[in-house]
Amino acid sequence: MIRDNDKLDALLSEVHDWVREVAHPNEDRVAEADEVPAEIVADMAARGFFGWSIPEEYGGLGLTTEELILGALELSQCSVAYRARVGTNTGIGSEALVADGTEEQKRRFLPRLASGEATGCLSLTEPNAGSDASNIETTARRDGDAYVIDGRKCYITNAPIADLFTVFARTDPDSTGARGVSAFIVERGTPGLSTSPGYRMMGQAGSPVGEVILENCRVPADNLIGGVEGVGFKTAMKVLNKQRIHLAALCTGPAIRMLDLALDHATTRQQSGRPIVDFQLVAALLADCQTEIHAARALILETARARDEGRDIALEASICKYFASEMCGRVADRAVQVFGGAGYVANHSPIERYYRDVRLFRIYEGTSQIHQLNIVKQTLRRRAS
Ligand SMILES: Cc1cc2nc3c(=O)[nH]c(=O)nc-3n(C[C@H](O)[C@H](O)[C@H](O)COP(=O)(O)OP(=O)(O)OC[C@H]3O[C@@H](n4cnc5c(N)ncnc54)[C@H](O)[C@@H]3O)c2cc1C
Repeated sequence: MIRDNDKLDALLSEVHDWVREVAHPNEDRVAEADEVPAEIVADMAARGFFGWSIPEEYGGLGLTTEELILGALELSQCSVAYRARVGTNTGIGSEALVADGTEEQKRRFLPRLASGEATGCLSLTEPNAGSDASNIETTARRDGDAYVIDGRKCYITNAPIADLFTVFARTDPDSTGARGVSAFIVERGTPGLSTSPGYRMMGQAGSPVGEVILENCRVPADNLIGGVEGVGFKTAMKVLNKQRIHLAALCTGPAIRMLDLALDHATTRQQSGRPIVDFQLVAALLADCQTEIHAARALILETARARDEGRDIALEASICKYFASEMCGRVADRAVQVFGGAGYVANHSPIERYYRDVRLFRIYEGTSQIHQLNIVKQTLRRRAS
């Protein structure tokens, strides 16, 4: 749903220009420093990028799903590190509060996330709970007016720099699986909470990912999200269902950028006295990229509109994430091919970096295999109803 076409067009055109004027020229700098420079973060905050999906009454823009997707398609047409810097606040790092927080919790935390003053993150995955996140072992024990949390979270995007952590822990020690899990908001500085430095990773330099360690970490009972124990896994699923559509858009933006770069290269690089785009085998690679990008875009927008209409999108959200992440991998591979040696050599094009950066899309927020299983499960469920 688009509420105001003029306002949205202005936002999209601002983001479009920002990506070309600020993000692209600084991509190498971000990769070399392994961080998005402070002045660029401040610029993104001043432009309101951190608050896209947070409701207006808490300082955000309150974008609908369709508006958020259109924004994400623009913002992600550059190095993944930029949108990862704001992306936890516009996605998994705020959504548990938006979906299920109490009014008091929303007033306390959301304005800081919307302005970019605080960075959020979602701490679900653990060493023994990856694809099966319901296997978490972190515990939260009630003690007077607080909960005492113990456990270890791994692979958490923005953990090394985060200020607010959405932490999932088992409040019912006798429970197994999804039941008995609760969600908490934990502030940096709470005694017993620490984070590791960022990992060394295959790609996405500039996007810190690390561990969250909770040792005898005493969190006020008021920080139990929604004030209700045992519904944390339902909250996580609400967050992830929306995020699957969002992430699908964030997979499509880099594919659009890689195709742009490949088109530039194919029309300027000459072999046998002709631009390589004249060779039909090269043109076919480009045509397949464009076709799949269009298919992903249409699928994601249709699903976003359905979500805004309040329809059940559990099946479509999984299809979006699965298709768009795999599609982006195929586009990256073809782009390397179109560039030839210059696609493999980092000194000669950014394609080598994109190729490594986008590999993650098929792994996090549900691996492709988990989405395949879910697509069949949801299809059978729908057929039965
Ligand atoms: C850079 C990065 C950032 C991340 N950010 C976050 C974050 O911000 N917050 C967060 O909570 N988590 C985050 N994650 C964790 C991510 O969601 C998990 O890595 C992912 O869910 C897969 O879990 P796993 O790594 O334990 O792999 P595993 O679950 O061990 O899977 C290994 C392989 O087995 C397959 N497999 C597993 N179970 C099945 C099954 N039932 N059927 C078929 N195949 C199966 C998988 O598809 C995969 O191929 C991040 C991960 C990375 C690498």
